[in-house]
Amino acid sequence: MLLSIIVPCYNEGESIKYTYQEIKKVLNNINIQHEIVFINDGSKDNTLQILKNIGQNDKSVKYISFSRNFGKEAGMLAGLEYITGDCVVIMDADLQHPPELIPEMIKYYEEGYDQVIAKRNRKGDNKYRTWATKLYYKLVNKLIDVELVDGVGDFRLLSRKAVDSIIAMKEYNRFSKGIFSWIGFKQKTIQYENQSRVAGETKWSFKSLLSYGIDGIISFNDKPLRVCFVIGCSLIMMSLIYIVFLLAQILIHGIDVPGYFTTIASIMIIGGVQLVFIGVLGEYIGKIYYEVKKRPHFIVDESNINNAASDSCDD
Ligand code: UDP
Ligand code: MG
Repeated sequence: MLLSIIVPCYNEGESIKYTYQEIKKVLNNINIQHEIVFINDGSKDNTLQILKNIGQNDKSVKYISFSRNFGKEAGMLAGLEYITGDCVVIMDADLQHPPELIPEMIKYYEEGYDQVIAKRNRKGDNKYRTWATKLYYKLVNKLIDVELVDGVGDFRLLSRKAVDSIIAMKEYNRFSKGIFSWIGFKQKTIQYENQSRVAGETKWSFKSLLSYGIDGIISFNDKPLRVCFVIGCSLIMMSLIYIVFLLAQILIHGIDVPGYFTTIASIMIIGGVQLVFIGVLGEYIGKIYYEVKKRPHFIVDESNINNAASDSCDD
């Protein structure tokens, strides 16, 4: 059995060596045939140089280097496309995903699970971020078809079957959390303690988190459009009732002094609702715009894997 490990790296020069050593320790301990594929996602530091050095001394280490930063989603996809293993573990380059879990994951894989998912608790996380995330998951799970679980990320083992299903999904806007959930298969969740980064800093800003959050809602279905439709219809119903009510008043009491307040209030509410709904439409059109272009998800600059080429959207 060959186990592949995928590690997407962006500016991880400070942590990549530790991560490599820790993974290697665990793999040598359980004495398993393996390959470790690092994806250098257009790092601006010395990540690539370090990867090359590691690769020269250890033939099980492969790297794929992108021509620029394409994001972690693209990195993971590249990894999944180029690994040759029977199963794969995806993990971060900052040791926030403890390699010590790998043996347990393999145990469950051997028992027949296709996805062994590592779930972290939120110990030590920023209180407000934890709170906001909880709220987000509550909302999002009401809104979309696939189930997203708090604390569950990309750290997981996937069987060859699962990997093949994932790379068959060619969408340009990739939301892995949703994709993992969407493909299904037999799943097992294991728990681990939240870890802090070994070195360097997180690449998530508030803006990127927000954008990721919106992707989570929009990428997986068209329910938000349905919600807009329902709210729109309710507003029309309410307006109709109100109009009938006003008409009756006019018929009984004659024309009242025109109401400034009601006019402004209704203009503002209807205007706001319309803008939001146009925004939702716009989000979908934006996604379609990128999908129809059929651009590759990433461009490979260099690699020590022979056939590594940029991927294409249209097969
Ligand atoms: N990463 C990447 N491309 C990016 C941003 C991040 O490949 O554009 C990698 C990063 O090197 C790390 C993983 O994705 O291995 C998770 O990133 P980070 O630690 O910044 O996220 P957090 O753990 O804070 O959620
Ligand atoms: Mg991290």
